[in-house]
Amino acid sequence: MNKAKREEIFRRLRDANPNPTTELVYNSTFELLIAVILSAQATDKGVNKATAHLFPAANTPEAIYALGVDGLKDYIKTIGLFNSKATNIIETCRILVEKYNSQVPQDRAALEALPGVGRKTANVILNTAFRQPTMAVDTHIFRVANRTGIAPGKNVLEVEKGLLKHIPKEYLLDAHHWLILHGRYTCVARNPKCGQCLIADLCDFKEKTV
Ligand code: SF4
Repeated sequence: MNKAKREEIFRRLRDANPNPTTELVYNSTFELLIAVILSAQATDKGVNKATAHLFPAANTPEAIYALGVDGLKDYIKTIGLFNSKATNIIETCRILVEKYNSQVPQDRAALEALPGVGRKTANVILNTAFRQPTMAVDTHIFRVANRTGIAPGKNVLEVEKGLLKHIPKEYLLDAHHWLILHGRYTCVARNPKCGQCLIADLCDFKEKTV
């Protein structure tokens, strides 16, 4: 795919949705961190349902740490992998309190050292909370990048690097959200909705249905 096509794809995605953001509900960087940890292999809707009860009761590292692993599980047991997520979150809260004055660090290495936080979660926090031009490649972005030809790659790191290299600078901050939303609602895994796709004429996917 050439530069002009990529420019046009992101111009259209921006025109259709000028201020894209995550569908996770949060009111602070710490809440976002907890929501993103909970969202691994879970839907944003499922996470929002749980955090709608959790955050009014506890939305600081101290308060969630005080719940303890079992107390936290009561709030998140509807979410997949809740046992390990509870353990990770309690440990992450302890580290935030003891090492970072209860603040979420803005640094990739510090974020990735927190239990339950991998490269993808760190990228989401750095991008969504701290507005750094990072690219968290999830299953939706991986699929869209490969199908369209924006940044094909065999694994998520290859796609992440390709996107960072090829997406025009002016779109980089919000590209993560545009691509996720496009994959979640239009370029879905089975039967992509090519007939309703606003970038169909620019997409290189051989099996597109238009
Ligand atoms: S044309 Fe189809 S395959 Fe290409 S981006 Fe749109 S929905 Fe996805």
